Amino acid sequence: RMASPALLMRVVASAYSVAEKAATIVRNVMATGDLGIVEKTGANDLQTKADRLVQMSICASLARKFPKVTIIGEEELSTDEVSEELIEDGHCEEILKKACPAQYSGIKEEELVIWVDPLDGTKEYTEGLLDHVTVLIGIAYGGKAIAGVINQPYYNYEAGANAVLGRTIWGVLGIGAFGFQLTEAPAGKHIIVTTRSHSSTLVNDCISALNPDHVIRVGGAGNKIIQLIEGKASAYVFASPGCKKWDTCAPEAILHAVGGKITDMHGNPFQYNKEVKHMNSAGVLATLRNYDYYASLIPNTVKQSLVP
Ligand code: AMP
Ligand code: MG
Ligand code: MG
Repeated sequence: RMASPALLMRVVASAYSVAEKAATIVRNVMATGDLGIVEKTGANDLQTKADRLVQMSICASLARKFPKVTIIGEEELSTDEVSEELIEDGHCEEILKKACPAQYSGIKEEELVIWVDPLDGTKEYTEGLLDHVTVLIGIAYGGKAIAGVINQPYYNYEAGANAVLGRTIWGVLGIGAFGFQLTEAPAGKHIIVTTRSHSSTLVNDCISALNPDHVIRVGGAGNKIIQLIEGKASAYVFASPGCKKWDTCAPEAILHAVGGKITDMHGNPFQYNKEVKHMNSAGVLATLRNYDYYASLIPNTVKQSLVP
């Protein structure tokens, strides 16, 4: 008889199904036409009904199955009274069939921290740039992002009615990442992907210093990591303190699972233990390949402006 799957694999397998349920909620809220937009800190920091419902769905569903895991979601909401129709109980069988890497096979519930961004790219969601949107579930152990699920609810939405809408990407360090075609960016070209709706002088000065061949401005941290692993961009550069731990945890695990690298602008790794401050105040620098090249071009003036 097979031993029961390791906790980490059960959490990832459940997070996969929970993220698919989340994607359905994201699409359903948009279809009603009533987004219920609330400004958090300002007009560029929004929350919609989808952000709220999805966070309740993800956090309550995972907490019910894994009651001792710490779950930290972006939105400030109570998950005490969550309607049963928001609960997802399923899991992905294919993930349970994969062997857990030996170094993670003994992990206990109390040792995991799950970082949830129920809807990454909210500003773009409200503007109809639907394929910028992702649902992010990142799993951390010992302060490190070790596994993650990224669902893109509107993947293929411009590909015609016959295309399958939406996809789920998942990964675990030591296993790899799945649900997409790993692709290298064009050799010898410097294509930078960065924010669309949270630019600043510092963000733009930093990009200019890299002398890029092309700059792609799109919403979402999850979406920008997808651009890296699908070869659309060679570096994600964001010289700003705006990104948070729930934005980077799942993307980091997936990028690292395929050999990429993400740090702050000083080259420091991100920490994901439950006590850590939420803001990635020293910015974000990520690549699939050639990390050192891009890191070497970050101006000292930019680094000095971004305090870890
Ligand atoms: P962006 O690349 O602009 O989509 O940002 C990536 C993530 O960081 C999104 O979840 C944003 O909401 C968040 N973010 C970045 N900059 C800011 C900011 N100035 N204020 C609030 N959230 C931000
Ligand atoms: Mg986000
Ligand atoms: Mg969000």
